[in-house]
Amino acid sequence: MMKRNQQTRLALPSLGVQAALRVQRDVGYQHPTELEVEILAYLRGAFVRASPSTGARANLLRLGDRGIISVADNLPHEQRRWAIAHELGHFEIHAGVSYLGLCTGEDLRFDYERSGRELEANAFAAELLMPEDSFAARCDLPKVTWAPILRLAQEFEVSPTAAALRLLSFTPDRVAVVASKDGKVLWTQGTRDFGPRPVRGSRVDQWTLAYDFFEKGQASKVAETVNAEAWIPSTREEEVIEHVLPMPRYRMALSLLWFRAG
Ligand SMILES: [Zn+2]
Repeated sequence: MMKRNQQTRLALPSLGVQAALRVQRDVGYQHPTELEVEILAYLRGAFVRASPSTGARANLLRLGDRGIISVADNLPHEQRRWAIAHELGHFEIHAGVSYLGLCTGEDLRFDYERSGRELEANAFAAELLMPEDSFAARCDLPKVTWAPILRLAQEFEVSPTAAALRLLSFTPDRVAVVASKDGKVLWTQGTRDFGPRPVRGSRVDQWTLAYDFFEKGQASKVAETVNAEAWIPSTREEEVIEHVLPMPRYRMALSLLWFRAG
C-alpha cells in the first residue's frame, strides 16, 4: 500500500497569494498597515490570543468555521505580525486541517525551507503584509543597500529579513541575502539570476565584511566591494558588493550581496 506523505506534496505559493488578494479585496483596504493584523484576523473569523512563549511561535486551532490563533507573547512587533499573518494563511487556505502546531522556527527563513503548507502560508503572509501592488515598484533601487530595505521594513511593519526576502521577488538586480551565525553561513536566498550562492554551513571567509562582525564585533557600516570568491568559491564574478546588517541579539549578520550591472 502506498504511504501517504503530505509533507512532500508540491507547494502552491500562488494559493497563498490568491488568498491574500481575496482578503484585501473582501475587507477593502489600501495599505496593509491600515488595520492591525489582529483585527484583520478577527474579521476573517480567527481570534488572536497571546500564549506563553514556550514551544511554537504560533499555532492555529480550528473550530468549525472559526479559528483561534495563539501567538507567543515575547515576539517583537514585526515578528508577531508575520506569525499571525502566517497562521491566518493556514486558516484561509488549509480548510481541512484542524490543528497546526508546527509553526516553530527561530527565523522565518526556516519556514521558507519547509514544503507544502508552510510555504503556502508564508506566501500568504508575504502578500498580505507586503502586497505586490504597493511593494514591487519600490524594489527598483539605485543602490541595493540596507537603508532603503529598512525603510520598507518600517513602512510595512515587517522584519528586515522579511522585507529583504520580499525584495528578492521584485528587484531587477542580481541580489542575494546571506544569513550567518557564529561565523558560519546559516542560509542564503537569491534572485533567480544570482548564480551560485554561498554554501550553507561554510565558514565566513576573512575577506568578507561579515567576518569583521564575528571577529571584532563590528562590521563596516557602508556597502563595500569584496572579492566575490570570498563568498562564493565557484563564482565566475570577480567582485560583489556586500552590505552587512548586524544582529548581535541573535549572534547573526545578514549580508546583502549585489552584483552591480555593467
Ligand atoms: Zn505554519
